[in-house]
Amino acid sequence: MADILSGKEVAQALGEKLKGEVDQLKSRGIVPGLAIVIVGDRPDSMSYIKGAQKKCSEIGIDCRLVQLPEDLSEKEFVSKIHQLNEDRNVHGILVMRPLPAHISEDRVKYEISPLKDVDCFNPANIAKVMSGEEGGFAPCTPSAVMEILDHYGIELGGKRAVIVGRSMVVGRPLAMMMLRRNATLTICHTKTVDLAKETSRAEILVAAAGKARMIKKDMVGSGAVVIDVGINFDENGKMCGDVDFEAVKDVAGKITPVPGGVGSVTSTVLAKHVIRACRMLIDSEA
Ligand code: NDP
Repeated sequence: MADILSGKEVAQALGEKLKGEVDQLKSRGIVPGLAIVIVGDRPDSMSYIKGAQKKCSEIGIDCRLVQLPEDLSEKEFVSKIHQLNEDRNVHGILVMRPLPAHISEDRVKYEISPLKDVDCFNPANIAKVMSGEEGGFAPCTPSAVMEILDHYGIELGGKRAVIVGRSMVVGRPLAMMMLRRNATLTICHTKTVDLAKETSRAEILVAAAGKARMIKKDMVGSGAVVIDVGINFDENGKMCGDVDFEAVKDVAGKITPVPGGVGSVTSTVLAKHVIRACRMLIDSEA
């Protein structure tokens, strides 16, 4: 039976540390601020926002919701982003995606200040993740995976890591972050010829494909560390990951559950990024 890597435990430990940092900032009269921008009211985005607001409030971050009408023009959207870029009480800006089709993500992503871009929307931050340069913001979900590995002292150096999924929000940036820690990476996707062969070689296996319970027991090597990023709902409407948890836990060495795994850490990482953005602003003005 695998050890459970509890995202809740990681989020609690990190949250307490961050709360201490915010208390220190507040004693100097500084309150870290996050603006969450949503166009419309997609239920999945609204549910994420609720979680992020709760986490920010626990940690002491001032979290402002900027909810914009669905029919807002691209020009008006960009103008709102510019306004938040200039707002001294806003240190981090999170734009909920997807945006409505008439607002081009490819155009507007350049408008958010890279210094406030706490979930890596602007290509300037993506470039830093790809090149391994310090000082930018990586996307929150792959950062949450790294937090879990670090919390449990799981070394990456020299390890065979396999990631299933190559999206720009999870698989690709995570691969670069693991590569920077000297793991030997394989990235799998829908055109991978023998997925089971690749995944069963992994010492660290990350599932980020968005397919309910697709990683079966016979696809996982004995003793592997299995990180499940997937958030899916099965035919009974029950939340589940990309990993067949009940079966895989008998072969894996360590495993994250869903719920209670990676998803539990993401909003705490967002808070961490807001505090860092706040410190960066203070340092730049010192
Ligand atoms: P995308 O749909 O953007 O990407 C999925 C990736 O998985 C693609 O690269 C795709 O390959 C690959 N893939 C899909 N099916 C298979 C398959 N059968 N075999 C091999 N590869 C496959 O998803 P995201 O990256 O946005 O999200 C992935 C999962 O993570 C989702 O369940 C999502 O809900 C969850 N998620 C969780 C978060 C959290 O906080 N825990 C945050 C963000 C996402 P190809 O490129 O060839 O199409």
